[in-house]
Amino acid sequence: MGRVAIVGAGPGGAVLALLLARRGVEVTLLERQHDFAREFRGEVLLPGGLEPFDQMGLWDEIERVPSVQMQGGVLYLNGRRRLAADFDPSTFGRFAPRWMSQPGLLEMLVRVAGENASFELRRGASVNALVTEAGRCVGVVGKDAEGDFEVRADLVVGADGRTSVVRRQAALPEHADPTPMDIVWLKVADVPAVREHPRLHACVGNGHLLIAAPVYDETLQVAWIIEKGRFGEIRRRGIPECLDDMAAVAPPWLADHLHRHREDASRPFLLSTVSDRVLEWSRPGLLVIGDAAHTMSPVGAQGLNIAIRDAVVAANHLVPVLEGAADPQAIDAANRAIEAERKPEVSEVQRLQARPPPVILSQAWWARAGLQLATGALSLLPRRQLGAGLRGLLSGVTDVKLRV
Ligand SMILES: Cc1cc2nc3c(=O)[nH]c(=O)nc-3n(C[C@H](O)[C@H](O)[C@H](O)COP(=O)(O)OP(=O)(O)OC[C@H]3O[C@@H](n4cnc5c(N)ncnc54)[C@H](O)[C@@H]3O)c2cc1C
Repeated sequence: MGRVAIVGAGPGGAVLALLLARRGVEVTLLERQHDFAREFRGEVLLPGGLEPFDQMGLWDEIERVPSVQMQGGVLYLNGRRRLAADFDPSTFGRFAPRWMSQPGLLEMLVRVAGENASFELRRGASVNALVTEAGRCVGVVGKDAEGDFEVRADLVVGADGRTSVVRRQAALPEHADPTPMDIVWLKVADVPAVREHPRLHACVGNGHLLIAAPVYDETLQVAWIIEKGRFGEIRRRGIPECLDDMAAVAPPWLADHLHRHREDASRPFLLSTVSDRVLEWSRPGLLVIGDAAHTMSPVGAQGLNIAIRDAVVAANHLVPVLEGAADPQAIDAANRAIEAERKPEVSEVQRLQARPPPVILSQAWWARAGLQLATGALSLLPRRQLGAGLRGLLSGVTDVKLRV
């Protein structure tokens, strides 16, 4: 039976650890934080990220993680409602998008993984280097509360997110796309009437996009898309003024709410957006998945979902070789097969993610006219058809099924 060291217990690392451990593979999952709430990550799970949990037999567990299931989305242009789409049960079934607590999801995954004797989670274990012998990665070294540690393994998986140490240490060649925007993330008091029919509200205007949705902790989550590098200026002007700017592009019910809560919003958090990918996902004895392989722009809320789908495909290829003699050549061939299967979806999603920001952030007449025309034409379609039209992006562009 093979031994695997996985660096990072985000959704990618935690799902892969669980899938390997329950087939008897020895897994050490190394997470630098003690508490999953300490690491900020996205919270929207789409059908393409939810369905794998059903295939894993974890659907009842998923239902118990705090979340809000979205019934659809509404688009406003300069405060006026232009489009609405329904996530129709006949299209999405129980896999309609959910805004889900990530600490809740990750605690559930490591608890279920821990039911297998071959699984070990080390919290507070920060990896800082790879161990390489004769050109092959054979483990990692790092620090935890007891001092320096070393973990030896047949395979090291870097699932350590957008600032991946494993990617950097393995010197994997990478390519970054320009990203014109950053996101200011904050919460305001709940709107009970909105919670009754939870929807994602997207408001475009003045070169900004505002997204608001009722979330699992009885608050309204707000994301304010700004031009890259403008957060310093927003902080200097103050958050109440920032909420006034948001209100200027929102429909009247949301504008009133933002004005009422301009003094008591939560502290804002800046998400600096990145879109990049490594050109090779593996080295002998080493693989990267999730944001460590391809940091996803937040457009379309894809990052968590793509990381989970990477983990499923990785398990499909790795279980057969790690259950057996863990032959190094077979492990490296499995890593190459994982890259070949996952790259098409990652490239296509990153290509689609690059399209909307330049139009939304532009104040040029052609961008505004284009948005009016496009939303006007789309508004002629029935709401259920619009929701179904989003299916490709919501459910994934390639077929991912758990086979092990
Ligand atoms: C503000 C924000 C909003 C987002 N919104 C969305 C959204 O709505 N929907 C969506 O799908 N995606 C969203 N994303 C992106 C999403 O969070 C990521 O794509 C996703 O979390 C990637 O999963 P992962 O498992 O690859 O890595 P991560 O979730 O980043 O997990 C990596 C883990 O590795 C650990 N780690 C890092 N370095 C080390 C080390 N040296 N040693 C040990 N452990 C280490 C970290 O503590 C972390 O727990 C958002 C991201 C941010 C920051």
